[in-house]
Amino acid sequence: MSKKIFVTGGAGFIGSHLVQRLVNEGHKVVVADILLRGNKINPETFRKIQFHQADVRDSAAMLELSKGCDLIYHFAAVLGVDVVADNPVETMDTEIIGMRNICHAALTNGIKKIMYASTSGIYGHSAIDQTVTETINVDPRTSYAIAKRYNEIYLAAMYQEKGLESISVRFFNIYGPGQDERMVIPRFLEQARKNKPITVYGTGEQTRDFTYIDDTIEACMLLTEKIKGSEIYNIANEHEISIRDLAEKIVALSASKSPIQFLESPSKRYDYEVGRRWGSSEKLFGITGFKPGIGLEEGLNYVLNSPLKRVV
Ligand code: UDP
Repeated sequence: MSKKIFVTGGAGFIGSHLVQRLVNEGHKVVVADILLRGNKINPETFRKIQFHQADVRDSAAMLELSKGCDLIYHFAAVLGVDVVADNPVETMDTEIIGMRNICHAALTNGIKKIMYASTSGIYGHSAIDQTVTETINVDPRTSYAIAKRYNEIYLAAMYQEKGLESISVRFFNIYGPGQDERMVIPRFLEQARKNKPITVYGTGEQTRDFTYIDDTIEACMLLTEKIKGSEIYNIANEHEISIRDLAEKIVALSASKSPIQFLESPSKRYDYEVGRRWGSSEKLFGITGFKPGIGLEEGLNYVLNSPLKRVV
């Protein structure tokens, strides 16, 4: 059934893929985005949505724009390790004030369900020696991860106090066409394309669990049907790879002449660098029968062959 859906951050990397999917499924989509780093919605999809350059910190705008909607995807965020470190106030305000405004808008406008973009950063160093399910103790270190965790708890309270239902999705290093160089994969791909050194921070032994965007959106769609109470779900590929191996894979797949250069982690990152990050999608699988299954090599090839150009 066609719905009217409000998407914050809909012009960003994950948001724009989400909007595309919602439009393809015949929904009416209202997007609010401040276009801080460009608009990643393709022109054809853009013509089919209602777009507003609006900030989630603006309560009146959120209240007005979400009127008549059945559901909210709250995906607006300041992100990228370096950007967050340089903009701590904006990061926190966007998270905390943004969430307050979104919940207020939902409650005022009778919108019953929210999906919120959280982060695997919440696990911090707790992924070192255990399977990362949603029930393990979290260990958020950065202001970004702390704010995301705060919002998850806030959403749980909104359900208890007001009956507002939600799912927070904890994304594990999502990648795909249209992502910009704040994140490691597009950065390495660009370095490889230009045959410049691939800048691996530290020993490169730190691991990440890279999840392809199409799998991510599929998981979000399936979970949307299951929003009940206030729940948290990992969206992870369940395969970890070291950053050094990632660099080598990217050089090989792009037939690049780039050497791999090991650099000291920039000071902004050093204190927060997580040695190991990988997640379990068992809970997601349990409720939807789906798990992200696109392997890293397959996903990287999709990115390499995508006509989508970076917008920023
Ligand atoms: N990284 C790197 N070189 C770069 C950028 C990132 O080695 O030019 C590493 C970074 O230290 C981290 C991983 O790649 O271990 C993922 O970084 P990203 O900023 O994409 O996301 P994070 O997982 O740190 O939030």
